[in-house]
Amino acid sequence: MLDNFNEEHKLVREMIQKLCRDKVVRRAAEVDKTEEYPWDLHQLFVENGLFNIRVSEKYGGAEMDYTSACIVVEELAKVDGACANTVAHHQAGMCCFMDGANEVQKEKYLPKIGRGDYLVGFAMTEPNSGSDAFSLKTRATMEGEEYVINGGKCFISNGGITDLYVLFTTVNPAQRREGITAFLVEKETPGLIVGKNENKMGFRASPTRELTFDNMRVPKENLLGKIGKGWELVLQSLTETRVLVAAMALGIAQGAMETAILYAKQREQFGQPIINFQGISFMLADMAIQVECARALIYKLAAMVDQGKRKLHYYASVAKCFASDMAMKVTTDAVQVLGGYGYTSEFPVEKMMRDAKATQIIEGTNQIQRIQIAKGLIKMY
Ligand SMILES: Cc1cc2nc3c(=O)[nH]c(=O)nc-3n(C[C@H](O)[C@H](O)[C@H](O)COP(=O)(O)OP(=O)(O)OC[C@H]3O[C@@H](n4cnc5c(N)ncnc54)[C@H](O)[C@@H]3O)c2cc1C
Repeated sequence: MLDNFNEEHKLVREMIQKLCRDKVVRRAAEVDKTEEYPWDLHQLFVENGLFNIRVSEKYGGAEMDYTSACIVVEELAKVDGACANTVAHHQAGMCCFMDGANEVQKEKYLPKIGRGDYLVGFAMTEPNSGSDAFSLKTRATMEGEEYVINGGKCFISNGGITDLYVLFTTVNPAQRREGITAFLVEKETPGLIVGKNENKMGFRASPTRELTFDNMRVPKENLLGKIGKGWELVLQSLTETRVLVAAMALGIAQGAMETAILYAKQREQFGQPIINFQGISFMLADMAIQVECARALIYKLAAMVDQGKRKLHYYASVAKCFASDMAMKVTTDAVQVLGGYGYTSEFPVEKMMRDAKATQIIEGTNQIQRIQIAKGLIKMY
């Protein structure tokens, strides 16, 4: 692999690869079928510090950098997109928490998050508010020392297994962006109802649930950031959350490419391995070109985040869009390389193709990314 990773990054990659080889690979297909959340793997991730990788040592975390988090997500996605999605969405919630939390909130929650078994979720999407996030309707109304919250969210990754939700509400729907206000909501809060798990095409072992808020009372101390400044939190964390999705897409594509190469080397037709046919080897070469380009951009951005540059939204959109479209193409071609076998669940490529599709939708669809990129072009040139 072409890289300029430091020793710590290499160790992280080796550690996750071993974990995946020993434990995750054999569970991935199984839990994809049953759609069960793999608590055994969850426990393994807790023990290996995958949920507190970026939390400071003071609170029990590993205090590793953003590049390490991307490596974790990439390596998990290579064998199971669902596990990668679970870890990546916890990181997305964490980004907003770290950006918005005041010192009191950090002192309250970081020791729990630092334990490594306390998940943070990101709850924005509603049944009638997806790409048009400013139109969200979940309403927060102040009553004395509390906010009363009514409404509902959908498609929330890790819904039901999350301990602390970063919940986006509005204090006044007419204000659209200026009304958006974030709160920290603990899972036991009365009035929080966790709904059904979506029966999904991919990421099947990663729970995606509805949340309903029925006169849910949240103390005013749980306001995250300021009233009407919720969107600023989203903007601050956008680079990190989108590049994480790009890393997930990269891992899925790498996994599919490796499967296709190994298969093409051993599968014989017309008396020779099919990799000898230019029609196949060129498909593999095209996969490699796309995967390497995505990796170069993703880790360049990760390194820049680690250097303290965070508002790289244009490039984050380019990376998310390119990597997820690339993963869709690479996984589809990998199924083609495996022919009929690729279309069956005997091989992992059909699952990878289903998982790749989600990366074109989550953290802003690729249409929304292209709108952002086009706006960036108008400003830049
Ligand atoms: C597996 C999974 C996990 C998720 N996890 C979370 C989570 O943890 N938290 C959370 O808050 N959300 C989550 N989501 C929701 C996700 O962010 C939304 O699905 C996404 O933002 C799109 O919203 P939508 O589904 O309502 O589609 P819509 O916004 O209704 O879009 C439908 C189609 O119209 C297109 N479109 C919309 N507007 C435009 C436009 N202006 N120009 C061109 N095309 C447009 C879209 O690109 C899309 O193709 C998750 C979704 C999935 C599938």
